[in-house]
Amino acid sequence: MVSDNAIVPGTVYLIGAGPGDPGLITVRGLQLLQTADVIVYDRLAHPSLLQHARAGADKIYVGKASSQHAMRQPDINELLVQQAHLGKMVARLKGGDPYVFGRGGEEAARCREAGIKFEVVPGVTSAIAAGAYAGIPVTHRDAASSFAVITGHERDDQAQAGKAEGRRNWKNIANAADTLVFLMGIENLAEISCKLIDNGRSSDTPAALVQWGTWPTQRVVTGVLENIVEVAANAQITSPAVCIVGDVVSLREQLRWFDDTQTRPLFGKRILVTRAREQASVLSDKLRLLGADPIEFPTIKIVARENNAELDSAIESLSTYEWLVFTSPNGVDVFADEMLRCGRDARQLAGCRIAALGPATASQLRLRLGVVADYVPGEAVAEAVLAEWPDKNIAGKSILLPRAAEARDVLPDGLRAMGATVDVIPVYDTVLDTSSVEQLKDEIASGSLQALTFTSSSTVTNLIQAIGTPSREELQKLLKPSVIFAIGPVTARTLSENGVEAVVVSADHTIPGLLETILNHYSSF
Ligand code: SAH
Repeated sequence: MVSDNAIVPGTVYLIGAGPGDPGLITVRGLQLLQTADVIVYDRLAHPSLLQHARAGADKIYVGKASSQHAMRQPDINELLVQQAHLGKMVARLKGGDPYVFGRGGEEAARCREAGIKFEVVPGVTSAIAAGAYAGIPVTHRDAASSFAVITGHERDDQAQAGKAEGRRNWKNIANAADTLVFLMGIENLAEISCKLIDNGRSSDTPAALVQWGTWPTQRVVTGVLENIVEVAANAQITSPAVCIVGDVVSLREQLRWFDDTQTRPLFGKRILVTRAREQASVLSDKLRLLGADPIEFPTIKIVARENNAELDSAIESLSTYEWLVFTSPNGVDVFADEMLRCGRDARQLAGCRIAALGPATASQLRLRLGVVADYVPGEAVAEAVLAEWPDKNIAGKSILLPRAAEARDVLPDGLRAMGATVDVIPVYDTVLDTSSVEQLKDEIASGSLQALTFTSSSTVTNLIQAIGTPSREELQKLLKPSVIFAIGPVTARTLSENGVEAVVVSADHTIPGLLETILNHYSSF
């Protein structure tokens, strides 16, 4: 949130989100995402990147599929300018690299024209990364010493039609480099392969298509120029896909890794990880390492407590506190928003010493408030925080602790035991978010979720409740296409009480045991 009297226009950051795999965003891009007031994103940016948005940031989808623009480019340009004029820091998140066929240049030009400051954060382009994840390097000492990235789809607006044809000189393109990478080329694959052959590339030049490169849904097909159209049609490859032409394609046999089921045996499997309140990410992280695409449900949502009178009065009397302690980046965000809303800024903190639990919290403090923490404990666990507390004379001093409503009391109790007066103010709630339930039901019903995992009885009952407590028959029908894994016999019994049988039960009732059971199940096919 920005204060009402902000009149200084914000900056627009054109950020490359990378090709899909959320780990491929740059450090700079991620930092900006975490602090932006508004994030404007499209289809090719991975949705999980939005989880890094701070509490209270606006997220605007302007999705683009090559033929059906959800929002027209001029409207996107205006949106960026308009948001910046409101004083907001705008993160324009674009798939791949913003300046590789992303129309980033047009967005930047419009900002310049409107007098809005902009910065560009380059990204990992699909032109290189899709091949890399398919085991195809764009260059190789033995196979290619140059590569070219080419659009397979020129602008088709009438007024520019003549110019576009002029730009696309097939003789030049066919011989532009050893490796040719076409983006947006799927609809025109027949023309591309034909023109390349007509202009001197041998019809037996290896060619590959990589669809949804770096995503868990990545699919790769290979052939030669002469048959690649047929291969693509048979495999029903659709956009987004890159087409790679050149001898490097043959290296896939040797260099394939991301979709190699020898080393990543769960590749391509979408697996539901149901969770109770505790984080489910340990299981998800392990599944991801084995190549799977874990889908967590419910997700966790941070909800800031608005009009928090208790917090407002603490902010007004900050000078009476000796220490201000932040336990999470979310706490920093909500605090900073509220302070600005009250018409205050970082100067209000001048008299306090500040503790930030964990490097992410310390970094958010720097980014949001420009404040360097006085104390960042080596380990962000309450017990360690207390043991290392730098101020040994805190008896009688006041400490403000703005944090999540559902947090443990070890830290405030420990500080009180040291003689301090601690004001704990809940500033946000972590709630289980079941809003994606309809989408989840569709996925389960269509069989696109290969497996469901349950790590406790409560995950079973929570899921059943979230999907509207169906009858036994309805539930059996819904779950039929998926394999059901239970962590142990108690969880399996809860499933069976609800009519769900044929469950694969882990013998060792731990997360590693469950993982092994899942692996064994799939390796026996
Ligand atoms: N700026 C983007 C490209 C935008 S043009 C980049 O640098 O990657 C959109 C085209 O990019 C798609 O039609 C497709 O050809 C390609 N593309 C983007 N992401 C892709 C992915 N994950 N896998 C395969 N192709 C992708």
